[in-house]
Amino acid sequence: MAAYDLIVIGGGLVGGAIAWGAARLGASVALLDEGDVAHRAARGNFGLVWVQTKGAGMPPYAHWTRRSAELWPELQHAMTERTGVDVALRQPGGLMFCLSDEELESRAEQARRMHNESGGIGTRVLDRAEVRALVPMVGDRVVGATFCPLDGHANPLKLLRALHHALAGAGGAYLPNRTVTAITPQAPGFVVQAGGERLTGAKLVIAAGLGSRDLAPMVGLAMPVSPLRGQIVVTERLRPFLDHATHVIRQTEEGGVMMGDSHEEVGFDNGTLVPVLRDIAARNLAVFPHLRDASVVRVWGALRVMTPDGHPIYQQSERHPGAFAATCHSGVTLAGAHALALAPAILAGALPESLAPFSAARFHVQPA
Ligand SMILES: Cc1cc2nc3c(=O)[nH]c(=O)nc-3n(C[C@H](O)[C@H](O)[C@H](O)COP(=O)(O)OP(=O)(O)OC[C@H]3O[C@@H](n4cnc5c(N)ncnc54)[C@H](O)[C@@H]3O)c2cc1C
Repeated sequence: MAAYDLIVIGGGLVGGAIAWGAARLGASVALLDEGDVAHRAARGNFGLVWVQTKGAGMPPYAHWTRRSAELWPELQHAMTERTGVDVALRQPGGLMFCLSDEELESRAEQARRMHNESGGIGTRVLDRAEVRALVPMVGDRVVGATFCPLDGHANPLKLLRALHHALAGAGGAYLPNRTVTAITPQAPGFVVQAGGERLTGAKLVIAAGLGSRDLAPMVGLAMPVSPLRGQIVVTERLRPFLDHATHVIRQTEEGGVMMGDSHEEVGFDNGTLVPVLRDIAARNLAVFPHLRDASVVRVWGALRVMTPDGHPIYQQSERHPGAFAATCHSGVTLAGAHALALAPAILAGALPESLAPFSAARFHVQPA
């Protein structure tokens, strides 16, 4: 039976970042993944490193997000150095375009509220002329925007690939097609059943996205996550016109334009719907009229991994110490913190006090 210091269940962006973060510190790590049959948020996401609106009403989440954005350049550097994969991080700041004075006032109010709750992240309100100075192609309907200098974007597929490569480079094992069906706590450690294989780990992280709900009770944890669909529209490659991140549109390093941000409660259906895609395109055409001539080359739907309040869950099992829960719906944004701050804490066997507010106890759910 293979024995590891740490077994991470779930090879998406959350599990991948934690597994690499632990392996780089010298731990022997196995990353067990269901493989290509799985619902994988990591394969269908938008690629933002987004700080501007994260943690409204929950300062610890705002602080954690900010920390991750600040750690991102170190993560990017490590990925390039260790794997040769450039994950295409750009952090020129992020814009939220507004199409009416009311919308701009409401965004400005949100920025003020977040500043008062969580401290400054440098968010500023820009008028039309200031927006145009940054992004000359915006249309006349844009009245202004909020701008946060910490926002950015990256290539999420390259990040996933780089994390898996870096894990292997640090001596860890990425084991696909290993659907975990049972976890048995044994003192000390855990026995994990994956297909016909049994592995033991001194510590264990459940980071299995939407699969976490069923696995968590096996080690006295609760991870009440559910799917929330987002659809994405991608155009042909265009000349560079948008370097900044925005929450609904971004131009990739290759020139394709991604548009998205629908939020649909449709269970495990990851399909697409023309009326939703049309709304996504219409909103972005109002901001960038020149896109009317661009061809759409791809659309998809993917399922976010949502907790009841939208904030992450990080927790160590009280009943079975050494077993940890980790999930969020911002796996790109939080990759820096997961790899460089959360993984070392898990290896050390205790989460810092600053992560206590992320316990699932806030939902008043009883672990089975
Ligand atoms: C449309 C959309 C847009 C998004 N945009 C952004 C964005 O701009 N910025 C951002 O930060 N985040 C974004 N996200 C969220 C981001 O993609 C997720 O936070 C991240 O991918 C979650 O990663 P994960 O590892 O928790 O889950 P997943 O990527 O879903 O990975 C979970 C993994 O667990 C494995 N698994 C499940 N059950 C088992 C089992 N029993 N045994 C073994 N393995 C198992 C699966 O194989 C899967 O690979 C977006 C998501 C969507 C859907």
